Amino acid sequence: MQEVTEQPPVWSAPVDEVLARLATSADGLTSDQARERLAETGPNRLPPPEPTPWWRRALAQFQDTLIYILLASAAAKAALGDWVDFTVILAVAVINAAIGLIQEGRAEKALAGIRTMLSVQADVRRDGGWERVDAEELVPGDVVRLRAGDKVPADLRLITASNLQAEESALTGESVPTSKDADVVAVDAGIGDRTDMVFSGTLITQGTARGVVTGTGQSTEVGKIQTLVDEVEPLETPLSRQLDAFGKALALLIAVMAVVMVVVGRVVHDFAGEELVSATIGFAVAAVPEGLPALVTIILALGVQQMARERAITRKLPAVEALGSVTTICSDKTGTLTKNEMTVRTVVTTAASYEVTGIGYAPDGDIRRDDVPVTLADHADLAALVTVMARCNDAVVRRDDDDRWGLVGVPTDGALRTLALKGGFDADGWTRLDVVPFDSQTKYMATLDRDPEGGRLLLVKGAPDRVLDRCSHQRGADGRSEALDRRWWEEHIDALGAQGLRLLAAAVGTPPAGDRIGDADLSQGLEIVGLVGIVDPPRPEAVDAIAKCRRAGIRVKMITGDHAGTALAIGREMGIVRGDGIGVLTGADLEAMSNAQLREVVREVDVFARTSPEHKIRIVSALQHHREVVAMTGDGVNDAPALTQADVGVAMGIKGTEATKEAADVVLADDNFATIEHAVEEGRRIYDNVRKSVLFLLPTNGAQALVMLVAVLFGMTLPLEPVQVLWINMVTAVTLSLALAYEKAEPGIMDRAPRDPRASVVDLAYGWRIVVVSVLIGGAALLVFTTTYDAGLSLDEARTAAVTMLALGQLAYLFNSRYLDRSSLTPAVLRGNRAVWIASAAMVVSQIAFVYLPFMNTWFGSAPIGLDIWGYTAALAVAVFLLVEAGKAVDRLRGTHGEISA
Ligand code: ATP
Repeated sequence: MQEVTEQPPVWSAPVDEVLARLATSADGLTSDQARERLAETGPNRLPPPEPTPWWRRALAQFQDTLIYILLASAAAKAALGDWVDFTVILAVAVINAAIGLIQEGRAEKALAGIRTMLSVQADVRRDGGWERVDAEELVPGDVVRLRAGDKVPADLRLITASNLQAEESALTGESVPTSKDADVVAVDAGIGDRTDMVFSGTLITQGTARGVVTGTGQSTEVGKIQTLVDEVEPLETPLSRQLDAFGKALALLIAVMAVVMVVVGRVVHDFAGEELVSATIGFAVAAVPEGLPALVTIILALGVQQMARERAITRKLPAVEALGSVTTICSDKTGTLTKNEMTVRTVVTTAASYEVTGIGYAPDGDIRRDDVPVTLADHADLAALVTVMARCNDAVVRRDDDDRWGLVGVPTDGALRTLALKGGFDADGWTRLDVVPFDSQTKYMATLDRDPEGGRLLLVKGAPDRVLDRCSHQRGADGRSEALDRRWWEEHIDALGAQGLRLLAAAVGTPPAGDRIGDADLSQGLEIVGLVGIVDPPRPEAVDAIAKCRRAGIRVKMITGDHAGTALAIGREMGIVRGDGIGVLTGADLEAMSNAQLREVVREVDVFARTSPEHKIRIVSALQHHREVVAMTGDGVNDAPALTQADVGVAMGIKGTEATKEAADVVLADDNFATIEHAVEEGRRIYDNVRKSVLFLLPTNGAQALVMLVAVLFGMTLPLEPVQVLWINMVTAVTLSLALAYEKAEPGIMDRAPRDPRASVVDLAYGWRIVVVSVLIGGAALLVFTTTYDAGLSLDEARTAAVTMLALGQLAYLFNSRYLDRSSLTPAVLRGNRAVWIASAAMVVSQIAFVYLPFMNTWFGSAPIGLDIWGYTAALAVAVFLLVEAGKAVDRLRGTHGEISA
């Protein structure tokens, strides 16, 4: 709106003027105003990118080397004037493209649906209080607050900013964060120089701020240029690329074989030109597994949907594959392995030790000394500690409508707030003058407060070792300041940490002259007042998940900002510390090591304690050096680089920042370690299903190609017509193979070692299975054809019998394929996947139609056959099933697949 008036643009006008122009105040809008404005401006979102027109997507389906072979075959048929075959082959190519299009659409829809689960939220001032709303509901005039890790939800003119930096590469391409403040800039400042504004879609990397919304949706800078990085992820993964390369190699092989066929057929057997062309085309279409690419996409997409149902939201399709091959999971402690429900259990001062009763955020319980409840009034040492913990604190605990006590703020602060309530701390008359927020790098928080008597206090709370580093004094038992006895504190820290308690220290300092806390005020000379020990119980499901990971050959490492003793105690309790490795390494140890030294030990370390976010990236790199496939969790803004570096970056959906979610491959909706383990299991299942489908689909082509090849090489009458080949390809690809996408995980899927991510989806041993099954089914089809033809059936009938053999053979093989290595000779093979039965029924009905419906007879050159032939082919199909099972048993005995469980 600013462009149409004579007024200066929002970045070069004073804040008050901007607020007035937007008819708002530094205290924001009322809900009614916001509702009215929303009706006027529309939701704060960008229109979705133009969808690719359907015809372009359809054409893209034909851009596949294997499909080219089909099209070339159709063209050859047209040249020969064989219009029925021409039409059928073309129809198959079109049907295949249509299926591909539908599958791709479904896959994209699944992914898009999952993306909307990750909506951006904003803290907005409404009716004089802070509310968390969907960013789409923001309107111009809203006042929004931001902190490190947030994604800016709209264009904002800053009202206040402290230490603010924003990374604006989404808009300007500049990846170095820009410093921001509320000071007015020149009228002609370019977007990158408008340091008093932050822009929709960029990330806050540091500091805190408040700003007023000046533009939403399409009137934001990013909306105007419409170049926000296209969020539609390509449906391409290492696996699909692998299969693509395989398709190309296969196409080449088919071409070579076709030439051999022509030469042999012509020179040795003196085939007539047209028959030879027909045979060659038949061979080519037989060998092309046209359904393969779409199949893989749909399996991955179905898997992504399933994972989202289990609360692991995939942001990038390739992550699904990587998850299945994860060998090491590096997990945060707080909230992921533990419940993040904190309660202060112990308080230690130089005068006494206190126990605190009660659990959770409800202030039910008291502070006791030698089992006797005490008050702050009687214990000055306790009062001093509680004052620091209560004032240097941003959390609020309150009772909700259901009478349950809930927390607004971070759990550590919540536990301390509840401690203050239990102690009866009176907050009346206190005011806060300045704050240094908690930062996982510095591991402390500080405030400058004015007490009810008008005195000013500098209060500090944080990780005990970090606080001690800044102390020269301690509050003595008599209440007076005395020289610091660091040993005494360290002994208490170790003792409390060994119980798995999370520790915080309280300290006071000399208040600065002004109303701002400077770095120098905190760097030294503080006086430590006491310690608190907080319990944060492990999540029981995480303990189970860790055990499961161990059985699955996956190492679990804890990376935490917490104290080494605490981390080690909890690591032991949860089964992360194994006893034979290096228990714990601290951030300081890590810093003293070179990368080479770290690499040497990294695999043996179970717990990394007192780490900063930048240590995570070194740990990931060191693990990757050993070819470990690493999943790494993170929540803070500084964790983003490590998540990007990890093979699977995992962000926390609840307590994670937008910055980490953007960098992650997977977002955990429940922040729970057990969900990672489920996702790994799901990743393994999905990969198994891709492998099963490939193993199932390829012998269809192998068998038919073999039939055609043998016929020509031995100068036989062709047992299959090209259209019949296509028929088989279509019914098996469309009906049967899809059923395997719905296969559940095989038992023991988490009892085998992780798969080698570099290995091919079909390795040599499985390659053999494809060849053997092709020979079995192809051989059976040849046998059926020759015996029935020799027995006096017409050519059409004998061919129909051969087609039926191929169809039933594949049907039988579907049941072999349900289990990769385990025996299918179990009643269980008939249960557990409804899709198998639906697909089988569909296939049988289609085949009956093929045999008996007159128009099908015309189109496909089929002819009705008797029940005896059905019986004959069915018996052979059962024989195929049994022989394949025998082969799988031999494989098991020889232990061809290292991953097989007994
Ligand atoms: P994880 O990486 O497993 O989530 P964490 O959450 O314990 O670990 P940090 O949040 O970095 O790691 O906390 C490290 C230490 O900083 C804690 O052990 C505690 O002593 C101190 N600390 C945590 N939260 C606060 C806070 N709000 N104010 C002051 N100090 C804090």
